[in-house]
Amino acid sequence: MSRKWRRGTKERRRGRRLGLALLVLLLAGCAGVGVWLAWPTGAPPADPPTGDETAAIEPATQYVPSNDPPSAPLSPLPPDETCEAAAPIGAAESNAASLNTLSWAPFGRAETGWAIYAPRIGAELATACGPGTTRFAAALARWQAGQRLAQTGVLDQATFDVMKTRWTLARPFAAINARGECPNAPAVASLSTARTEEAYGGKTIQLRPGALEAYRRMVEAARKDGVVTDRDPRVLTIFSAFRDPAADAARCARDNNCQGVTRTICSAHRTGLAMDVYIAAAPGHGPDSSADDNRRAMARSDVYRWMVRNAGRFGFVNYVFEPWHWEWTGEPPLPGVPISSLPQEGSQPLDQGAAAPQPGLKGLLPRKNEVR
Ligand SMILES: [Zn+2]
Repeated sequence: MSRKWRRGTKERRRGRRLGLALLVLLLAGCAGVGVWLAWPTGAPPADPPTGDETAAIEPATQYVPSNDPPSAPLSPLPPDETCEAAAPIGAAESNAASLNTLSWAPFGRAETGWAIYAPRIGAELATACGPGTTRFAAALARWQAGQRLAQTGVLDQATFDVMKTRWTLARPFAAINARGECPNAPAVASLSTARTEEAYGGKTIQLRPGALEAYRRMVEAARKDGVVTDRDPRVLTIFSAFRDPAADAARCARDNNCQGVTRTICSAHRTGLAMDVYIAAAPGHGPDSSADDNRRAMARSDVYRWMVRNAGRFGFVNYVFEPWHWEWTGEPPLPGVPISSLPQEGSQPLDQGAAAPQPGLKGLLPRKNEVR
C-alpha cells in the first residue's frame, strides 16, 4: 500500500517534472518568437548620426529586456480608476492608430509613431491607462485645456511640443544652456566614485556626492518595487557620468566633429550631475544607441516606465529623446561661462538632415540637436 503510494508519488513527480520541462521549452519558444517578431529583419538599421557621445559601448548580442511586454499596468490603477472615461469622440481610436503610425519629427529627426514617448506622456497625464484608452484621451483633453490648447484628446505635434518644453525647462542644465551659458565643471577631487557593481562594464564612474547618494536611494526603491532584479544586473548601472570637458574638447578638435555644437562643447556630463544608465538594449545596439528600435525597446521596459514615474522623487529628470540620460536637480550646476568663450574647434555642425528646433522651443534650444 505504502509502496504503491510511493510509486504513485514518484510517477506523479516524474510527470510534474516532464510538465515543467515542457513549459520551460514552450516559454523559451515563445520568447524566441517574440524577439523574432519584434526584430523580423534581424539586422537593425544603422545608428543615426545623432547617437550619444559614448560610442565605445559594446552592442548587445542578445536582448534581455527587464520585461517585454511590460507587465501593464506597472503602477496599479487607483481603486476608482478604470480605463474608460468620457472623452472626445474618436480620440482614443485616433491615438491607438497614431501610436505606431504618426509621421513626424518630434526632435528634428523623422520618426514613426510615438510609442517611445508614451510612458513619459502617461506620467505627465497621471494615468496608468494605455495610449489607446478613453481614459488616456480624457486625461489628455484635460491637460490640453490646462495649457489652452484645443481639447482634442489627440496626441499631436503641437501638444507634444508643449510637453517637451515643460520637460526641457525642468532641466536646470538645459535652461542655463538656453541662455548661452555653460556650467563649469567641478574639481575631480570633489567627486564621488561609484562602486564596481554600480558601474556598467567596469567603467570608472564619478558624480557629485549628492547625485550619487540620490542615485543609490533610487536604485534601492527600484529594487524594492521589483524593476531591478538579479535577472539582469545591468539594469540601472551607470555607463557614463562625469566627463572632463577638456577631454571632450580635445576629442572634438581631433575629430573635427562635435555632431551638434552644444553636445560636445558643453555637455551636461561636465556638471557631475548627469548620468547615463542602462535601461535596455535591442540586438546589435549599445545601451546608448538612439536608433528608434533601441529606444522602443527601452520604452517597453518596466524599468523605464518606473523611472518616468518615480525618478522625480529622487530629484532626477530625463532628456526624453534619450531614455538613458538623467540629470540630478538636487543641487544647481556650478556657475558658468558663455558658450562662445569655450574652444570651438570642430564645432561646425554637420548638415545631416536634422531640422531646426521645434517652434515651441525657439530661443530655448538654439542648436539643431539638444543638449545632452
Ligand atoms: Zn548622457
